[in-house]
Amino acid sequence: MASDLPATPLPRARKRFGQHFLHDPAIVRRIVNCVAADEGETVVEIGPGRGALTGLLASCGAQLHLVEIDRELAGDLMMRYAEAPAVTVHTGDVLRFDFTALAGQLNTRLVLVGNLPYNIASPLLIALLSVLDCVDRAIFMLQREVAQRLAAMPGSRDYGRLTVMVSRSCTVEVLFDVRPGAFQPPPKVDSTLVWVCPRAAPLGPPVDSQAYAQVVRTAFSQRRKTLRNSLRSYHPDLAFKEAGIDPGTRPETLSAAQFAQLTAALYPG
Ligand code: SAM
Repeated sequence: MASDLPATPLPRARKRFGQHFLHDPAIVRRIVNCVAADEGETVVEIGPGRGALTGLLASCGAQLHLVEIDRELAGDLMMRYAEAPAVTVHTGDVLRFDFTALAGQLNTRLVLVGNLPYNIASPLLIALLSVLDCVDRAIFMLQREVAQRLAAMPGSRDYGRLTVMVSRSCTVEVLFDVRPGAFQPPPKVDSTLVWVCPRAAPLGPPVDSQAYAQVVRTAFSQRRKTLRNSLRSYHPDLAFKEAGIDPGTRPETLSAAQFAQLTAALYPG
């Protein structure tokens, strides 16, 4: 591990980029073992930071693409990997990164890895739903609360819009928790490593993904209300009947497949 750290003084951790750098070699090794990247694969590391995971990922023999928003850190990584043809550094915001173009150019599906900055975890997960065709698997470190929401079961406290959006198209497995002391500076919350894998086909009947997102957003916009009330603007009586869904229930009791059935009934043809 120590050999992967730059010899020059480390730049200060920037709060606005959610920088909490891993400094526990045992945790780093555990994460990279979970990624299990093979030689022929292409790995995209999101937010490599000071390169705690990058060194071990680079030694797997896979093609490695690093996407880092912090210019100073990206510059350090470019220098460090200048002689490594398998490593490419992209400086910029991962929320604008074109995963489809990279996968198309290399004619491969991507393995995504990241100890994600907490402020972009949910928007990134939602954005990735539209590029799942080019994703093989994603191994992400998330705030524990976000991981619990991703893996929640219908009817539970953590079940919500994020769960319903992601679970229709992906399976989520919680791998292990990481304590704040494994990071520098330590975050105020616990973290959890999750494995996210695109399903062969989304759950439920085929529906337009924007229509699905709209129905889910509207249903959860007033979580305490029944579906009859929150979806009132759709005039949904017939659709509830067609989808076999009780309009008196609350959104957090519906599975992703049921939301797809409801969307199909609300947006026929
Ligand atoms: N991977 C490193 C580690 O585990 O030590 C750093 C993890 S730190 C929690 C998050 C990293 O993501 C930081 O390096 C930060 O600069 C970078 N980052 C934050 N927002 C980003 C964005 N929108 N796009 C790309 N990188 C981002």
